[in-house]
Amino acid sequence: MRTVDVIVVGGGPAGAAAAQRLNAAGANILVLDKERFPRHKLCAGWITPQVLSDLQLEISAYPHGFLSFRRLHFHVRGPHLAVPCVQHSIRRFEFDAWLLERSGAKFFQHTVRDIRSDGPDYLIDGMFRCRHLIGAGGTSCPVRRSLFGVGQPRTRTLQTATLELEFPCDWRDGDCHLWFFEHGLPGYSWYVPKAAGWLNVGIGAMAVRLRRRGENIRQHWSHLAGKLQRQFGIKPGDPSGYSYYVRDFSAPLSVGNAYLTGDSAALATRDLCEGIGPAIRSGQQAAHAIITGSEYTLEGVTGASLGGGLISRCVDWAFTRGAGRCGSP
Ligand SMILES: Cc1cc2nc3c(=O)[nH]c(=O)nc-3n(C[C@H](O)[C@H](O)[C@H](O)COP(=O)(O)OP(=O)(O)OC[C@H]3O[C@@H](n4cnc5c(N)ncnc54)[C@H](O)[C@@H]3O)c2cc1C
Repeated sequence: MRTVDVIVVGGGPAGAAAAQRLNAAGANILVLDKERFPRHKLCAGWITPQVLSDLQLEISAYPHGFLSFRRLHFHVRGPHLAVPCVQHSIRRFEFDAWLLERSGAKFFQHTVRDIRSDGPDYLIDGMFRCRHLIGAGGTSCPVRRSLFGVGQPRTRTLQTATLELEFPCDWRDGDCHLWFFEHGLPGYSWYVPKAAGWLNVGIGAMAVRLRRRGENIRQHWSHLAGKLQRQFGIKPGDPSGYSYYVRDFSAPLSVGNAYLTGDSAALATRDLCEGIGPAIRSGQQAAHAIITGSEYTLEGVTGASLGGGLISRCVDWAFTRGAGRCGSP
């Protein structure tokens, strides 16, 4: 039996950010992940300046491909707005492994199946014991399932379905493009160029609303593939899918000494479904709560990427109407 102060289940952005804070504070911690890193993670890999600042990341110190966009192109059913911006893209395959290594935390490849309370401690699969537990295992996090799961179903109206593909591509347009609500899509599709000749394209849409329309996300993929070919001369291959949940303001965050972070707590923003930033902040805040003995809160973990103003609220409403409270906290 291996005994430590804190176990972090999941080594993605939420887990790595928590691990870095805890490790720097001298806690005896262990990160468990079912995958060996670097691992594949479906994600467009768009990151905001806030992510860099939360990670205290100097672009020049990042050892992998990193691209900054000069403009964001918003296409809304035809009309088009090019907004000057400073936003960035990374490849999750590289970024997550780098973050985890940078945390300096001990890592063990292990698929967590069974978690139970044992007095003040948590026991994992009869192999690991800890006093504090951070759930950072994404949508199907076993911490949530074991300690928060029963009677806490996810809010179905907040589930996003996605399809995406990342592939080598000699792209010519180095800006990011987002197409909202095309062909009635309850969501948006994207074109995110990356450094070193990579491109990520995909679709995200609210799953319940797609089902109500009697549609399949693959139909929308065909529309996107056609558009990419016409507009950029690009022919994407077969995509892969994954689903996660946007911000549920009523979801529980902690029970006893167990804390949920990132996708396990459904923290992605409601307007653009951006989850990397909220994952990192929540991981850092869970670590802070453990280190200082203070309450774990999501203060500063926004529910909106577009600033929470009118546009942000309109997009949130268009995506998640019927799902309760709109906008950022
Ligand atoms: C197609 C797509 C595109 C996206 N694009 C963007 C984007 O451009 N920008 C953005 O900000 N967000 C984007 N997101 C959302 C973003 O990817 C997630 O919100 C983010 O990865 C959440 O981080 P996390 O650390 O909570 O979880 P994850 O990154 O999912 O990490 C969870 C980790 O837990 C591990 N794990 C799971 N179960 C177990 C288990 N039983 N035992 C041990 N380990 C386990 C997994 O292997 C994984 O490494 C996108 C999502 C999708 C699906």
